[in-house]
Amino acid sequence: MSLIADIVRGDFQFTTDPPVVDWSESNLVLPAAMAPASPGPFSTERRPYMREILACGHPQSGVRSLTVTGGSQTGKTTCCILILAYRIPHAPGPTLILGNSEDWLRVEISDKRLAALIEANHCLRIHKPFDAHNFRKLAMQMSGGFIVFEGINSDTSTSGSTQRLVYICEAAKIVHHERDQAPEAHPIKLAFERTKEFRGLELQMMDFTPNTPNHLAWLTYLRGTQTHFHVPCPHCGHFFPFEFEIRKNGETVPEDEMETTLEEEQERAVSDHYRSLVWSPDARRADGSWDIPRVRETIRYICPKNGCEIHDDDKPGMLSKLQAVHHNPNALLSDRSFRIPSFYAPKVSFGDMAKEFLEKGDLLTTGLQNFYNSWLALPWSIYAFKIGDKHVNACIAGAEGGGTDKYARGVIPTRPLHLGLYADPGERATDWAVWALMPNGDLMAIQWGRLASEKALLDPDFLRSLRFPLAGTMDTMVPISGIVDSGWNTEEIYDICQASRGFLWPSKGDPTAKRGWNVTRAASRNRDELELYTYSDTELKDEMYGRRIQRRRGPRIIFPTDADSHLLTGFTNQTKDRQTGRWKEILNDHQGDCGKLALLHSQILRAGGIVKF
Ligand SMILES: [Zn+2]
Repeated sequence: MSLIADIVRGDFQFTTDPPVVDWSESNLVLPAAMAPASPGPFSTERRPYMREILACGHPQSGVRSLTVTGGSQTGKTTCCILILAYRIPHAPGPTLILGNSEDWLRVEISDKRLAALIEANHCLRIHKPFDAHNFRKLAMQMSGGFIVFEGINSDTSTSGSTQRLVYICEAAKIVHHERDQAPEAHPIKLAFERTKEFRGLELQMMDFTPNTPNHLAWLTYLRGTQTHFHVPCPHCGHFFPFEFEIRKNGETVPEDEMETTLEEEQERAVSDHYRSLVWSPDARRADGSWDIPRVRETIRYICPKNGCEIHDDDKPGMLSKLQAVHHNPNALLSDRSFRIPSFYAPKVSFGDMAKEFLEKGDLLTTGLQNFYNSWLALPWSIYAFKIGDKHVNACIAGAEGGGTDKYARGVIPTRPLHLGLYADPGERATDWAVWALMPNGDLMAIQWGRLASEKALLDPDFLRSLRFPLAGTMDTMVPISGIVDSGWNTEEIYDICQASRGFLWPSKGDPTAKRGWNVTRAASRNRDELELYTYSDTELKDEMYGRRIQRRRGPRIIFPTDADSHLLTGFTNQTKDRQTGRWKEILNDHQGDCGKLALLHSQILRAGGIVKF
């Protein structure tokens, strides 16, 4: 090779910045303030997943957005700080570090981490300003540009400075205060917008522990590559990501059913019921509490492919062979995001993960939320159930994956066990609906509408209109019996039910009842035996909206292909709050209430042995 080629090549190598991992491992010493458990020369040996993340900090990596969400002890903040440190001598520029409060940034990010790291390393220290007054905790005038720290509520925030690097620490803690007067974009968005003058050279970075699924931090993670670290099973070589998973018949078990599933399925490793972590059944004491030392003694991680048993000793070897897998193949490669559950932290054992789950305490909500956020790096919804359009649309006959055939409004597709009329009278109008109960327990909406008043329920013209053809036959069918909500205008409803001579029955939701339904006498005036059905509103809604519509378990709720918004909006936007365990009261869910009465009726008919499903 010619001399000139050698020189040019050498020059080229010199001007290419070294890989972030190599440079950090050969140059940086972590001070005790930053790494109390393992101070000394930095190494990725015990946390090999850091390599892939750190590489994103290289100016030639093409990465413009880096989002890291992780559980306890995964080192997500350390990764970001090391990238900032790497950038001080390589491709520096004005840098903004944003956090929820300035005090927290001063102590946790400046004192304990970045400032400590700069002081401890000659290669960084030489970039400090000559005049020590210009190296402050919240404003460091480094040779390549200022590093400024801002709390989200500080006066200087949202000002118009231009930045090459913006790093948002614990981004999920950054709250967006909506003001009616002057609506503003989310502070995270505003902060990232400050890099626009450096377009093509910028780096937008954030780390966080997830909280809710709608937070911009989690949405930013979802937008990115969603990179996970897959590890090989030491026995069969199958690659999989470490997760806390409980699956039953191929479906992930909802969190409020997790612990009962643990009780049911203690011993089985691979079956229809998969649990990633298993331990000996005798760890459950007679009083229902868990013997944690026994759990730790017997715990193993189950390979999701072949059921091989994996122990804590296997973990370092598995981690050393990890592969980064993008779970979101549609993301741009300039938009990298990572999720690291605490399983990957070298000091967190399988037993620690089980302990965190089992010791969540009696408060299913808050304890489990912490486990989800801080250990699994998963968001936690404040809703136990939330019914959206997609859940309701999936109930339309013939919808993809619904396993139902199309049918039109006003036609009964196949012979039902029972056809019923259900009504929810209110001050302005009375909503009614006809539902068919099928032999397998499915409920199908046949017809619905609105009457001017509850009295019209017994109007002969209305009743005559309730005659429906049975598809494929010459038969027509009429409702045999039905249930009316008597919560509003109770005496009047009782009179109507009485006058219907066994066709309509009154009902009332009992807010104190936790379970099931009851038959009592409608106590009022001098009336013959009129039966009143009382029921647990919460339980019926759990069954209908939660189990059948959202989770698609058990018998189905089915709407005709041409269902209109009058019917469908009666079922959407139902939410159940985890904290209170109550379904939110919503307006205009009268059709939902009619459907709920149809469900109640199916339970009554089944209990009476009239129908079997
Ligand atoms: Zn295996």
